[in-house]
Amino acid sequence: AAKKDGRRRARTFTRSMLIVLEQREMLRRSLRTALRDGQFFIEYQPLAKTSSSSIVGFEALLRWRHPLVGDIPPNVFIPMAEADGLMSEIGQWLLERACRTAMTWPLHFTLAVNLSPAEFLHEGLTDRVAQTLDLVGIRADRLELEITESVLLERTINNLDTLNTLNLLGVQISLDDFGTYYSSLSYLKNFPFDTIKIDQYFIKDLERDEKSQTIVRSIIGLAHGLGMHVTAEGVETKAQAEWLQKEGCDRLQGFHLGFPMPAEAIGEFLGRTAAVPFAH
Ligand code: C2E
Ligand code: MG
Ligand code: MG
Ligand code: MG
Repeated sequence: AAKKDGRRRARTFTRSMLIVLEQREMLRRSLRTALRDGQFFIEYQPLAKTSSSSIVGFEALLRWRHPLVGDIPPNVFIPMAEADGLMSEIGQWLLERACRTAMTWPLHFTLAVNLSPAEFLHEGLTDRVAQTLDLVGIRADRLELEITESVLLERTINNLDTLNTLNLLGVQISLDDFGTYYSSLSYLKNFPFDTIKIDQYFIKDLERDEKSQTIVRSIIGLAHGLGMHVTAEGVETKAQAEWLQKEGCDRLQGFHLGFPMPAEAIGEFLGRTAAVPFAH
């Protein structure tokens, strides 16, 4: 009976796995033509400066709306695009488009763009960034490139070259999702980051959890001690915003400040929020 049971379980497992695989394969195939078919779009999430309680920039977030499946989260399709060698082209499309959008914003506003590992490790990255800045005519220091620690795990010597070249171009560099992944402090010693973004994992229970408070306070101190700025991600409540402001966190990002929105909604959003400080 045990053998029969096992077989039945094995068969069921296989069938559901097959469905998952077929769905993934369908998505992967669609992904190859998604750029050409205009299925990608960009949303922009506000970044707020704590000292002035005002919006100072936006992070570009990639969106894929599949005609049959609907919206697919970036955490699902970006790794697929990476694996299929498509992310570099998609990222270049996003960079140019987002830079053009940022040209319509107040002149001091920054634009943050995420770089996945394959994009960062792509040979032509620094040339392409330089060319895009030139083509669009946006000031280099208005662009912030966000990378995660997972990017830095490979090819350490070239990584430093790439970061230094970007730094020479005048582009800002942020370390995204800090505190997750491997969080080796040697990255902070060796790489020229302008900003550390504290992962939302440490922000979400900030009101109740003293350990999170201690960790966040320490990261702020560490960053400032190294001459870097700090942004808190995933700020969802007024209490979190006030606590972070009190502790000297430089910038805030999260649903409390604003949800990701299409480019067309930014003008109205800025008009609406200018009068209402986010904390106090
Ligand atoms: P990320 O760069 O850390 O972006 C922040 C993510 O947190 C976004 O998810 C955003 O919508 C979400 N978020 C913002 N505020 C809050 C909040 O208050 N609460 C909660 N629970 N979530 C919040 P999203 O858009 O799903 O993106 C997920 C990840 O996908 C990004 O994490 C980034 O790593 C990657 N990604 C998104 N767009 C791009 C892109 O254009 N290029 C690359 N390479 N990666 C991208
Ligand atoms: Mg990011
Ligand atoms: Mg710099
Ligand atoms: Mg992040």
